[in-house]
Amino acid sequence: MKKLLSFMAFALVLVPLSIQPTAIAIPDINSVILAQAAEVKPQKKLLVVTSVAPITNIVSNIAGDRVEIQGVIPEGTDSHTFEPRPSDSALLSRADLIIVNGLKLESPTEKLANSVKPKDTKIYELGNNTITEKQWLYDFSFPKSGGKPNPHLWVNPKYAEAYAKLATQQLIALDPKGKPYYEANLKNYLKRLDNLDKVTRSVVASIPAKNRKLLTYHDSWAYWAREYGFEVIGAIQPSDFAEPSAKEVARLIDQVRKVGVPAIFGSEVYPSKVEEQISREAKVKTANTADDELPGEGSALALENKNPQHTYIGMMANNLRIIASNLGGNPKLVDSLDPSNVVGPSVASKPSRETSKKE
Ligand SMILES: [Zn+2]
Repeated sequence: MKKLLSFMAFALVLVPLSIQPTAIAIPDINSVILAQAAEVKPQKKLLVVTSVAPITNIVSNIAGDRVEIQGVIPEGTDSHTFEPRPSDSALLSRADLIIVNGLKLESPTEKLANSVKPKDTKIYELGNNTITEKQWLYDFSFPKSGGKPNPHLWVNPKYAEAYAKLATQQLIALDPKGKPYYEANLKNYLKRLDNLDKVTRSVVASIPAKNRKLLTYHDSWAYWAREYGFEVIGAIQPSDFAEPSAKEVARLIDQVRKVGVPAIFGSEVYPSKVEEQISREAKVKTANTADDELPGEGSALALENKNPQHTYIGMMANNLRIIASNLGGNPKLVDSLDPSNVVGPSVASKPSRETSKKE
């Protein structure tokens, strides 16, 4: 027993001694764990590069905070003649996925991307995967002889739905672990787009049938018109994106008088005196619509945007109000739309239905 007690005393003496080295070892283990965590944590987000603002906005609503999105074509610039800058080359060289509209809209950007992108990075063309070549439209500013189809598929909300679904598939292929997240965002976003489609139909129905005609400066309404039973009677902008000739302007004035539309539509991206001249001489109103410039201040990137109007849906809501009020329809029908993103800071600041419903 005495032996045992002395052993225990000895052991007690030993314990602090044996703890000592372990106590030193613990911070070591911790620092290893911390270092491992540090390696995992700042792992860079996958980078998806997009092109025009509406596509950037649609893709970023699905991608949320799992993926970094960067749009190449700045808002308010002419996407049809856009030439990428040296900084875009650096961006494209880091891209894990490149999502563009296609139908030859971003040819210079795609060409650059092909020469600088990582080997495994895919360039995905949403438009080419939404409709077949047979469904491509060639028209006023996009004649078949020019070889470039009208690329404005996203202006049609049904095609925007397809874009959102296709972008989701591409994001899942890139980041399979994010599948439930992307699918949840898609589900929420499709509700918004479906509502946009329904509201568009009701706005169109409110416009007298004889007024369901568009003459626009920029030729961006072809696929929208085909979807919603409008007729595009012409576009002022020639296929070389210069100003039309005096003869062409005279012909358009004649046409507007003959067809009897109450308004023609311009574009803020392409301010033109010709449009004013036609409106003055044909005695019709004029107003601006938009196809790749989101309304108001804000970012096309859902995660950076605080303005709930500065979205693809916000842009289409504005267009609907402008078209309805200038062609004898009911712009109030647009008030039921929620234009906000489904992810990012603008989600919390939903427009108040109560105030807009006051009639
Ligand atoms: Zn355009």
